Amino acid sequence: MRDNRGWQPAWRKAVPRDGYDAVIVGGGGHGLATAYYLARNHRMSRVAVLEKGWIGGGNTGRNTTVVRSNYFYPESVALYDLALRLYEGLSRELTYNIMLSQRGMLIAAHTPMQMEICTRIANAMQLNGVDGRLMDGAEALQRIPLLNQTAGARFRCLGGVWQGRAGVARHDAVAWAYARAASALGVDIVENCAVTGLLVEGGAIAGLKTTRGTIRTGRVGLAAAGATPGLAAPAGVRLPIHTYALQAFVSEPVKPVLDTVLLYLGTGTYVSQSDKGELVFGGGLDRVPTHGQRGNLPAEEAVISGLLEMFPAFGQLKLLRQWAGVVDVVPDSSPVIGPVGPAGLYVNCGWGTGGFKATPAGGWLLAHLLATGRHHEISRPFDLDRFARGRMIDEAAGSGIAH
Ligand code: FAD
Repeated sequence: MRDNRGWQPAWRKAVPRDGYDAVIVGGGGHGLATAYYLARNHRMSRVAVLEKGWIGGGNTGRNTTVVRSNYFYPESVALYDLALRLYEGLSRELTYNIMLSQRGMLIAAHTPMQMEICTRIANAMQLNGVDGRLMDGAEALQRIPLLNQTAGARFRCLGGVWQGRAGVARHDAVAWAYARAASALGVDIVENCAVTGLLVEGGAIAGLKTTRGTIRTGRVGLAAAGATPGLAAPAGVRLPIHTYALQAFVSEPVKPVLDTVLLYLGTGTYVSQSDKGELVFGGGLDRVPTHGQRGNLPAEEAVISGLLEMFPAFGQLKLLRQWAGVVDVVPDSSPVIGPVGPAGLYVNCGWGTGGFKATPAGGWLLAHLLATGRHHEISRPFDLDRFARGRMIDEAAGSGIAH
């Protein structure tokens, strides 16, 4: 193994065939997990994942890697905790180290009203059977000694909600692990293949037009994040999704200073420390809808000032990198999973700022839909028809944080 030769590719570089039993559009975490669970759970291996660029090159490889299931509504908890449980066994199942680190997460409050919100979330989590509890300010300070609790601090921490099973996982490893496992089960992972249109015949999906030719299939799963509405629109499907830039930031590496994930309700800024020592942090969306993967200065200023309010000491650090992803946001801050438009067409999208943590569940549920044509009970509430039925699952309102 010299001169960078002799490596075994982790997955086959597949050439698209003329037809498949099912095709998944989008080689992000959700698309790749869907392919793996189609092959593993449903024994379907005449399956392709079509990715316009390289796998994991969308939001999957751009996120800040936080995983958790500290949600408010029972529907959300069922979804995100399925994902967390699958994550807990994933390195072993896929024989690939996804570097899951369940270091715990504190959603911190700095006003009595925010403590009320945290109490509500903690109660809801316990009622929904998920680990979560209220933490007071003294314990928060003990866990995170660098928190600014001085008399002059603008955002003193009064405590918050703690979830011990939350943490971080290596995002690109999750994509690579699913790709390798799916490929080993016979799935074709086709990179550099953009889908340009849907073929619909007699009210049902008949195939896809791509930059590498036409592919026939009766079942299509769209898992293309912010590109999904544009792909589905020609089939008469209107999805309630707007795309926004969401930025992430990484500092220079330092010795261990923070061994949990922290999110501050008041500023929206959150932070964790990577295994390399970098502080990885982010916050709210850029305000103006866009498809540009850049991000703008006002949002950067808000995130960085939020971090420094919490940790003035971090003001000494250099910012190493900044980037943005384009996230797909639904008005009630919950994903859309289910059938849409012509028979055989399904979507898994609208994960907004929080779909990395849902990756295994999103794949599991879309695979179930593609294989059986029916909802799994966990995906049912996330069908697009919730807008017609008035059964929105507004997590931003419920738990005070979107996604
Ligand atoms: P993607 O990974 O975006 O995959 C979609 C794929 O579809 C892309 O690879 C794209 O190239 C492909 N595609 C698009 N159009 C076509 C086409 N026409 N033909 C073929 N392929 C196509 N979530 C968390 O849970 N925790 C976090 O800490 C977190 N932090 C985040 C921080 C930032 C800065 C960002 C941007 C996002 C963050 N998220 C987080 C959200 C999370 O990254 C996403 O919700 C999740 O990765 C979505 O995965 P996906 O597979 O649906 O989409």
